[in-house]
Amino acid sequence: MLDKQIYLEDRLLEYKIKYHARAQRVRISINKHGVVVTLPTMAKEGVAEDFLKRQALWVWHHIDKNKDKKDRQVFTAEHYKKHKGEALDMIVKKVEEWNKVYNFNYNKIYIRNQKTRWGSCSSNKNLNFNYKLFLLPVELVDYVVVHELCHLKHMNHSTLFWSEVGKGIVNYKDCRRALKKHEASIF
Ligand SMILES: [Zn+2]
Repeated sequence: MLDKQIYLEDRLLEYKIKYHARAQRVRISINKHGVVVTLPTMAKEGVAEDFLKRQALWVWHHIDKNKDKKDRQVFTAEHYKKHKGEALDMIVKKVEEWNKVYNFNYNKIYIRNQKTRWGSCSSNKNLNFNYKLFLLPVELVDYVVVHELCHLKHMNHSTLFWSEVGKGIVNYKDCRRALKKHEASIF
């Protein structure tokens, strides 16, 4: 197999050329391992380039589709099982640390595999946190922990709630903005 590169539609494509004695015509395969162009034994390498140029849009479409699939598959049940424990250790430490500041009463801490939220606080004073928090910078973990702790006192997002958050996290507005950016790539 030959490793090759070509610019297609202004993007650099890395692909491989494979020769196959019985190939009658040019073939292309795109999967999670990459792009392979198969040529009949006697064909020149330029044949592969011409082929890719003609199919450029189709090629990128399939590469991007494969990439999307791969990204989505990161947060599987298995991934959750693997990281749940370390997420819990980290969160418990953070809650204990921050509750020295706040001194609220809480019941239990749960780690969950949630799709669209970082944390929640239940009316019976349980704190729930998303295991994906371990993927965030530590200052944002602090913000999420403080946010949920403050819901123990205010079960809403009132001005009083935010001033409570601000006692622990002065720049909580920046944190909210930064968190939104991470949501786009993680959720
Ligand atoms: Zn909230």
